[in-house]
Amino acid sequence: MPETTFPQRVRIALDDPKKTYAVALGARHLVEGRARALAAFPQMDEFRDRARLIRAHTLSRLDAYLTEFADNVAAAGGAVFWAKDATEATNYVRQLAREKGVRRAVKSKSMVTEEIHLNRELEKDSITVTESDLGEFIIQLAEETPSHIIAPVMHKTRYEVAETFRDKLGVPYTDDPIELNRIAREYLRRIFLSADMGISGVNFGVAESGSICLVTNEGNGRLTTTAPRIHVAIMGMEKIVPTFEDLGVMLNVLARSATGQKLSVYTNIITGARRPADPDGPEEFHVVILDNGRSRALASENAEILYCIRCGACLNHCPVFQAIGGHAYGSVYPGPIGSVLSPILWGTDAAGDLPHASTLCGKCREVCPVRIDLPRMLLNLRATGLAEKPAPAWLRWGIRQYRAAAVNPQRFRGGIKVAATGLRLLAKDGWVKKLPAPLNGWTDHRELPAFAPKSFHQLWTERET
Ligand code: SF4
Repeated sequence: MPETTFPQRVRIALDDPKKTYAVALGARHLVEGRARALAAFPQMDEFRDRARLIRAHTLSRLDAYLTEFADNVAAAGGAVFWAKDATEATNYVRQLAREKGVRRAVKSKSMVTEEIHLNRELEKDSITVTESDLGEFIIQLAEETPSHIIAPVMHKTRYEVAETFRDKLGVPYTDDPIELNRIAREYLRRIFLSADMGISGVNFGVAESGSICLVTNEGNGRLTTTAPRIHVAIMGMEKIVPTFEDLGVMLNVLARSATGQKLSVYTNIITGARRPADPDGPEEFHVVILDNGRSRALASENAEILYCIRCGACLNHCPVFQAIGGHAYGSVYPGPIGSVLSPILWGTDAAGDLPHASTLCGKCREVCPVRIDLPRMLLNLRATGLAEKPAPAWLRWGIRQYRAAAVNPQRFRGGIKVAATGLRLLAKDGWVKKLPAPLNGWTDHRELPAFAPKSFHQLWTERET
């Protein structure tokens, strides 16, 4: 997590209109895509129920399914390493790279490798790591971090991408997306052919066969996992499904929720390394199964967060994410999923502000393909955070006053009258442009409508009489 505080990062985000525009546009595009996909698939609700049951069942027997998966990876000629944390996982990959004389690695998009900062660790050994997903490639060139779990470059306009390509690749400026794609493809093709190690994440591990499933919309996943002589897949330990039949259910809900597609363009299922009769493929296949706080999550009241299949729908629909974008969260996992996952993985000291980055409108729960009750966990984490570090005295006093008023109708109506009169005095043309401190946090970024001349309660009473 970065040194800056969440409010500082929010301020930086809100002061960057180009970024907020790009994020709002990108999120809207994905929201509309999902809506179209769901409208064309009437069985979606049934599939969502099945997907949730599969996740619940798998996590209730995670140890057995992980053991089955690991045994089958080994039976297919692969190696399995169980990593307790990020250090163990990165050390394993670094050691393997040293032993095998790896100088260059190519990576397909993987949030779990971002979580453990794998690139940074490999670069300590002078290993060049190149991102091969187009969005991640752009981010790497721009020396930034992803701002979304499936659309890492959502915060950038194509004009900014054009400038990055011109500055970092030395190509003439073009903002034509097809031309930009061609430039990236040409550049990356050489990398694929010269890399010694391909590194990928895992969307799902299939216990019954020891296969890993990778979904991408670019051919980079296939090239990363087949062209280099060594393939290393890093898998969060919760990413297991028992059978291929279960995988089919998960894929149906994942693509529709993420990008609005029936199915991602490439669904790669990889079982072990290259066999003697295979014309191509890696000589070695390694799977690193990463815990890094997940066991702790599994044992907690927030275990449900491990149902997540990283579709990104909760981010796209979240009004807070739409306004501030992913970087303001300061975590590799932004949005509602990140606001729950980050404090669980990194503690409330590092990410305790994030559960407050929600209006609790419930949209995240409504759109989640596995129906994760994110608002419930956000509230749990708020309570945990406040138990560890109580709110400032003035805020507790304010909440106490509000509670005293809210439980007494007479006092509540009296308070509303006072507030309404105050706001009307401050308002111009029905809007308050600036509130006095400490209420100015609201009007620093938007105007506040003055109260209506009559409250709903008054209108209702008049109607009844
Ligand atoms: S919490 Fe649900 S909606 Fe959000 S990324 Fe995970 S699966 Fe998708």
